[in-house]
Formats: sequence, structure tokens, C-alpha cells
Amino acid sequence: MADWKEQMQNLVNSLEKLEQHINVTPEEKEAIEKSETVWGTTPYFASLMDKDDPNCPIRKQVIPSQKENENNYGIENYLIYKENRSNEENRPDTIARQYHDRVAFTVMKTCANYCRHCFRKEVVVDQSLKLNFDLEEGLQWIREHQEVRDVLITGGDPLLLSDEKLDFLISKLREIPHVEMIRIGSRVPIVLPQRITEGLLKVLGGYHRVPIWLNTQCNHANEITEETAKAVYKLMTSGINVGNQAVLLKGINDDVQSFRELHQKLLSVRIRPYYLFYCEPAPGIDHFRTPVEKGAELIRDAIRGHTTGLAQPMYVMATNIGKIPLMPDYYIKEKSDKEYTVVNYKGQETTIPNIPE
Ligand code: SF4
Repeated sequence: MADWKEQMQNLVNSLEKLEQHINVTPEEKEAIEKSETVWGTTPYFASLMDKDDPNCPIRKQVIPSQKENENNYGIENYLIYKENRSNEENRPDTIARQYHDRVAFTVMKTCANYCRHCFRKEVVVDQSLKLNFDLEEGLQWIREHQEVRDVLITGGDPLLLSDEKLDFLISKLREIPHVEMIRIGSRVPIVLPQRITEGLLKVLGGYHRVPIWLNTQCNHANEITEETAKAVYKLMTSGINVGNQAVLLKGINDDVQSFRELHQKLLSVRIRPYYLFYCEPAPGIDHFRTPVEKGAELIRDAIRGHTTGLAQPMYVMATNIGKIPLMPDYYIKEKSDKEYTVVNYKGQETTIPNIPE
């Protein structure tokens, strides 16, 4: 199925369709039958699932789990809190803001893969939070806020908009003199690489004053195929940089081998690791979360010194007051007036002079 629209029309979102790809376990079957949330993925992404292993990292991201009904640590009304939707600034539903010079512009709630760990699940997966996706209202707000120089188009998955709608949105943003860059957050290069068509590249690509940066989300090496590599190459040769924003997920990428393989394989298909996000405290996804320190440990034990520094994402926690960096901090062991004692990834120590200010 090479056509992206056909992929979307045939979304794997029922037990019967899923059974065409894998041997569904009784637990998975029960969770699907009881789930009241939106779930599903493309036939392409479903074809990457391990047929017989319920611990397959792709299955865990796609198939509902009964654990989603447990909520011991998640924050209720998470998006309202996290995206500062209830503060004094009057913004359209489409605009989320945590910083002075950049905003997230939420344009739709449809996805090609309904990730079970999604922090926007209240809008996308549970659909308990209803937003008014009025694009013109969002554009007008951006026009009136001259301090906004960077717009992140997000969703849902914005690359599921038609070429015509995307063209409208991007050309209108590019007409705003104070907008200097556009970012797109999309899982499409990973879950629906067929969407990277000539028509889309015409809309997104080419030289322009306002460049487009695309960040995708890939959480395990098994998600990367030849199709991914070709889609990313087409984007890059059209002038669009592609980065990755992985989410740290328990049982999926929280061991040294999976973590290293993921980041090495991303580079092998020209995707630059950008962020590793601590899995956010949205309700019903406790089972995906690790202790906070885990991400820094993985960067220390799987990446630093073990492979090229290009493979190293910045580990952060996204909060209601912005992103908090959580990188490993053990490199400076001691500091005296004369020197620093520093430690490498093997625990070896050396000293460098401390130069007074
Ligand atoms: S593609 Fe993004 S918005 Fe959609 S379910 Fe996955 S994480 Fe959430």
C-alpha cells in the first residue's frame, strides 16, 4: 500500500484488522474490547510489529493496555495545567505558550498512530478535552504578537492535513514578518513515510526566508526502515532538517542496548537525535514512566564515550514552566582554586587548570 491516503483509510483500529498482523494475546484482546479511547495505527507501522511477542516495542506503543485505567501518579486535566491554558493570557485554543518568543500551534487532533504514551492524550486519544481548531484565529493571534519569532505546528499530526491546507497554513505563517522559523512536530516519517510525497515536498521544501525544521518521534530502532531512510532523505534534500524527539519509555527503550541502538540507527538514516523527553505525568500512563534519573544514566552508559556525540540527545523534562535539562552531572568531580578534577565515561579521572575569571 504505497499511497498514504490508502494507509489512512485502512487504519488498523479493530481487533479483526490487528489479527491480520499479529497473534493477539488474551490480555491485548480484553484491553481492546474494554478501551473507550481512540487507538490504531497504519498498516505499514503494524507490519513492523513482532507477530508473537507481546513485549514488542511497537505493539506496546500501539495496542491499548488495561494499565491505562490505573492512575496513581498522573495529573488530572494535564494539558490545561501543562500548557498554561488557564492562566490570565487570553489565547485561542490552538495556541499553547510557555516561552516569550515561541508558541505551539495545535492544528488538529488526528494522528497516523495513536501512541498510548501520548502526553496530549486528553485531546487525541481520550478526546475528553475538546479544542476549537480555528486556524484563522490562531494565525491572527500570531500576527498580533510580534514577539513570536518561532512557531511549532503540532497536533495530532499536522502532516495529515491535505497539501492544500498545509500550503495555506505555511504560506500565511511565512507572510508574517516577525515569524523567523517554523517547526513541525510529526510522527509521519516514522509511522507513515508514504506521506512524504512530491506534492508535500513542494509545499514544505525549497529555499525561503522562513525555514522549516521537522522533529519526528522514534522510540525504538525497530521503527526505522528503508522507507524511513528514503522519506528522510527526500525531506533533507528539499531543505528540511529532520530531528528526533524520543520519549523515555519503560520496557521499550530504557535499557542500554535498545537506547544505544535507537540513537545509532537514527543517525544511520540521517535523523539527528534532538531531545529525549522524560515521559510526562499525563493521566493513565504511569506504566510507561521510569525514575527521572534513568534518562541521564542511559546517556552516560549507552552514549557518552560509547558512540559519536552526534547520537546524544538532550535529556529534558517538559513542564508547565518550560523544559528542565536533566543531563548527567557527574563529569566534574572536584574543583579547587587550581584545578578541576573531571571523570570520563569509564570512571577515569584527569585534571585541567581552573582559570580565574
Ligand atoms: S503522534 Fe504525537 S500527538 Fe499523535 S498520539 Fe502520538 S504522540 Fe500523541
